[in-house]
Amino acid sequence: MPHIQQLEPHVADLIAAGEVVERPASVVKELMENAIDAAAATVTVEVQHGGMTLIRVTDDGCGIAAGEAETAFLRHATSKIRSEYDLEAIGTLGFRGEALAAISAVSRVELLTRAQGAQLGIALSLEGGAVVARDEAGCPQGTTMVVRDLFYNTPARLKFMKKDAAEGAACFAMVQRVALSHPEVSVKFLRDGKQELRTPGDGKLQSALYAVLGRDLALGFVPVGGSGEEMTVAGFTSLPTCCRGTRGYQHFFVNGRYVKSRTMTAAVEEAYANQKMVGKFPGCVLHLNTRLNAVDVNVHPTKQEVKFGSEKRVFDAVYYAVKSALEADRTRPQLEGGA
Ligand code: ADP
Ligand code: MG
Repeated sequence: MPHIQQLEPHVADLIAAGEVVERPASVVKELMENAIDAAAATVTVEVQHGGMTLIRVTDDGCGIAAGEAETAFLRHATSKIRSEYDLEAIGTLGFRGEALAAISAVSRVELLTRAQGAQLGIALSLEGGAVVARDEAGCPQGTTMVVRDLFYNTPARLKFMKKDAAEGAACFAMVQRVALSHPEVSVKFLRDGKQELRTPGDGKLQSALYAVLGRDLALGFVPVGGSGEEMTVAGFTSLPTCCRGTRGYQHFFVNGRYVKSRTMTAAVEEAYANQKMVGKFPGCVLHLNTRLNAVDVNVHPTKQEVKFGSEKRVFDAVYYAVKSALEADRTRPQLEGGA
């Protein structure tokens, strides 16, 4: 019979990393969330070869103190929560203290950062989670994370990566979502040197929507606003005539966090139930805001699933907000020459 042994830490780290870092787009998500939590006004994301050879995320946020740069890469190291009570009301996108540990375990990372108020910044290099270089560095306030050669030391995962074009598209979709989740942040995306997105960061969801969808598509969306028991719903939803063959245009955010929610999807689609739309799905960008302790975000390592205190209240709030947006549009006086 094989003996039972506790795994060596670096093996355990690789296993844990697999939960958080599935593909380049997961790295993009975690690094952008860190930038937003650091109160950045602008975030630039660059990828090369679909993010497989390089992902660089630059922000102008609060930066990391030189003395804490190494700590940031340790598992369960975070500045965002302190005690178990903080888990009841999480107001930041991150809180698990796992992303940097996970990312650095399966790639080569360079960090360049200067904290608010510090004269000098720090440059740190890691390979497979181990620090290989550390230097003082002059740099602007904020943080740049460079992630190279993702999964170079986990061939089993590397094998499952899609073509660069598909991984790059997944990175782009992630950037778009994050841009829509925080319209007050100006988000820029460059793929293989070419700029593909720039949101103005003026705080208006409509501006971000225009930048992400393009004017023609965005014109097919109408504003949504409503409130339910202890929550508000705001955003845009597509006119029945502008629905598409996929659910890829449905974006849900809860307290600024991108989530996958069956309840919210079902509520939106129910609101379109009496429209004839065989094989078509509405698009929407909906922000649900609620008390922090009315939603549990500590459900899944990627934090994309959440549990609501009451799914029914969420369903009702979303359903009525979307339904009345569609009705308001139908009864709106048509412009001359309009259809
Ligand atoms: P979490 O976001 O869950 O706290 P991470 O592993 O993503 O965990 O990051 C660890 C810590 O490193 C964060 O809590 C934060 O203090 C710091 N950090 C990471 N990225 C940034 C950034 N872009 N700007 C400022 N601080 C950062
Ligand atoms: Mg984080």
